[in-house]
Amino acid sequence: MVNAFSFACSACGKCCNSPPAMTLAELFRHRDRFIGCIAIGRIPRKRVGERVRVGQHERVLDEADIAAFDTLADTLLQRAGDTFSITAQGYDYPSLARCPALEDDGRCAIHSHGKPLTCEVVPLDPLVPDTLQHLVLAARNQSAVYFGAECIREGEREGAALMVAQGRVVDAHAKDALIRRRLALEKEREVWGQAVFEALRKELFDSPAALARIPAGGFLTISIVPALLTVASVSGRCRRLCADYIDSQLALIDRCIAQALVRRRLEDRPVTLELRGFANAYRHAKAALAESTVMASDGGHSPAPGAVEAYLSGAVL
Ligand code: SF4
Ligand code: SF4
Repeated sequence: MVNAFSFACSACGKCCNSPPAMTLAELFRHRDRFIGCIAIGRIPRKRVGERVRVGQHERVLDEADIAAFDTLADTLLQRAGDTFSITAQGYDYPSLARCPALEDDGRCAIHSHGKPLTCEVVPLDPLVPDTLQHLVLAARNQSAVYFGAECIREGEREGAALMVAQGRVVDAHAKDALIRRRLALEKEREVWGQAVFEALRKELFDSPAALARIPAGGFLTISIVPALLTVASVSGRCRRLCADYIDSQLALIDRCIAQALVRRRLEDRPVTLELRGFANAYRHAKAALAESTVMASDGGHSPAPGAVEAYLSGAVL
């Protein structure tokens, strides 16, 4: 079978080595466990004729591949020269090398009540066309994160689900997870991502010097406050939901910093500084929300208030 990979997760927890990308709704749901931030990622544009090679797997991208990348970019990403992802993300001290939901026995503490969709998609990548997911699996199989887990195997394997074969995602659960994560990314873009992109256009996306801070394939993390102010502008209830979220986040940041001070690790210092910056941004946002200085949205391209309220309160995920 051509370009076939099987997958069987033993829940060893090796790939749970950092907080996952999440939706804003997921961050609201797990507000006492995950510190939220926005991750802005640079995804270099692919070109016809580009050679992608992972081990013995190679593909020269053709027009159909580029069209598939463009379709994903048009619905899920932003364009400013390269393409950029703007996603909500959990944030924690990298020195801990673990997701805050990872239990000591390697299990996920929120597996059965709101595990982020990103984790359901593992080990596939929703930003890569289905026809090229075998290259994603080949690359993960060679990465240090998955080393020793042996959850991804080439070809068909007993006790493992055939995940991709002959340019298709064939496992029903994986197919469904990819669809749901892509729909969630589309919704995030609609609810806050597009507005944050526009808000950052002048100081970041239209400034080559500022954009140089994000290397190809790399990320810039910023406070989640621009996303909160976007959704808070939708209605009074959204504003109250955001204020409650900020209270939980301030308490969580305090706890995380207190634990870091006990650990006394040098490499934690810049992260503590960044967390203090997040806390300051939250305090300013809370003051703006209390004074109702957050402007109501113009209603032009905004989703309906009821839909955003349901989204933030966990009724719709
Ligand atoms: S490394 Fe593989 S086996 Fe371990 S938790 Fe992740 S997907 Fe599952
Ligand atoms: S939320 Fe659960 S599955 Fe996802 S990275 Fe954390 S521990 Fe792993």
